[in-house]
Amino acid sequence: MTITSENTITAPQLTINGESRASDDTLSVIDPSTGQPFIEVPSASLAQLDEAVESATRAFAEWSSTPITQRQAKIQEIGQVVRDNLDELAQLVMREQGKPLNNARGEIMASLRQVEVFGSIELEPEVLRDDETGKVVLSFDPIGVVGAITVWNYPFLAAMFKLVPGLVAGNTVIIKPSPYTPVSTLRLGELLQGVLPAGVLQVLAGGDELGRALVAHEGIHKISFTGSVPTGKAIMASAAATLKRVTLELGGNDAGVVLPDADPETLGPDLFWAAFSNSGQVCAALKRLYVPEDKVDAYAAAIAREAAKVVVGPGDQEGVTAGPVQNAAQLEQVKRLAQAARDGGGEIVFEGQVPDGPGYWFPTTIVKGLSEGNALVDEEPFGPILPILTYRDLDDAIERANSTVYGLGASVWTADPNSQEAIDVAERLEAGSVWINQHPVVTATIPFGGVKQSGVGVEGSILGLKAYTNPRVLNIKR
Ligand code: NAD
Repeated sequence: MTITSENTITAPQLTINGESRASDDTLSVIDPSTGQPFIEVPSASLAQLDEAVESATRAFAEWSSTPITQRQAKIQEIGQVVRDNLDELAQLVMREQGKPLNNARGEIMASLRQVEVFGSIELEPEVLRDDETGKVVLSFDPIGVVGAITVWNYPFLAAMFKLVPGLVAGNTVIIKPSPYTPVSTLRLGELLQGVLPAGVLQVLAGGDELGRALVAHEGIHKISFTGSVPTGKAIMASAAATLKRVTLELGGNDAGVVLPDADPETLGPDLFWAAFSNSGQVCAALKRLYVPEDKVDAYAAAIAREAAKVVVGPGDQEGVTAGPVQNAAQLEQVKRLAQAARDGGGEIVFEGQVPDGPGYWFPTTIVKGLSEGNALVDEEPFGPILPILTYRDLDDAIERANSTVYGLGASVWTADPNSQEAIDVAERLEAGSVWINQHPVVTATIPFGGVKQSGVGVEGSILGLKAYTNPRVLNIKR
């Protein structure tokens, strides 16, 4: 146990070759609700990266030839360890990420769905042909050593999204969490030292430089990355040198289109949470809402009514339902976009309360009166601010919803989810996932990924699992 009665936390260490390891360098991790460092964790050196890759390579030989059912039994053990340490892990996620404790618990619980689904999924060889002329069998081999690079909005969930399918498929995995939120992933690495053979799962905290080295490393065969579009592009370029496989889960600027038949009062709460869950720091949050011109005030009022119920504050405070922005750079980004909205003639229809004093606070903010060309509409805020835009007709709404380089998620909102009109609009929206009357839904059983510049490949479902494999064909002539 690492949390003492004074609420100070013993820093978890790197996990390399099955052991806890310190480092000469450290990362100072800031509690976003105070703006102050609360812990120092080791920052892995490039020599430690080499050591981890060597260990992962050694471990791969045995792990990859272990039957998948035995690997899945280990995944179930991982699930048990996570359940047994739920309280501690939730505390760590709350402290490093800033979200309310209940939501941190929810994040850990949600990660167990990965265990449930991939811990029992079948990845059998497929017989493509079997007749008198021959037999063709397609099987799915592990790729090798996987480098997993994660982000700070759901630090624990993002790690589990990668390590669980990566390991089930027979790879060994090295995770590099975000330098803003390395603590819960490091702790998970420590907790799993007794569960997995040395080198099968390793955790190296470090900055962007370590991420670059991981991507360039000749001993790593696949990168699974969650983060921003610019970093995704840099990773794809760097991975080309060694032809690493990449899965890139990148940013979004998701549009929601509300059909004329819908009722503002009915949809207000769901629209609010679609945009503001996790203080808006969700890759596939609703980030641009298109409503019919004559109903904009009714939607603004209905969403604002839900916004008024939100209590922003430190995650461990009773009654708090939303935390701060996770880091100073992101706060600056949100402030810049809010200022652009004001400068561009946007009308602030709702602005919530935030605590006094330090911490990366930004009020829940709803804006109307903007259109494309304003930075708040064109860029991804990744924070608690939503522009409500108006459209003339559905062709206009769809064209503008699609007028972006992003294509992560999108949604259609209607009084009749079975209507052909709702499905027609959904089919015209350019996104990896289009939801009707909800936004977003991301879970282990459903493929999730972006089109356009929102990503390459998917996570979740058998497709997400196969992304951690090399297809191999056996072709017999009879
Ligand atoms: P970021 O790209 O700056 O950092 C993410 C991770 O990449 C960190 O671990 C960082 O250290 C590492 N990194 C940075 N530069 C690197 C490089 N050149 N090579 C290798 N690794 C490098 O991400 P951010 O801006 O902090 O995160 C916010 C973004 O993440 C938003 O755009 C959000 O939409 C996106 N996101 C996407 C998903 C998804 O599933 N599609 C989920 C969550 C967040």
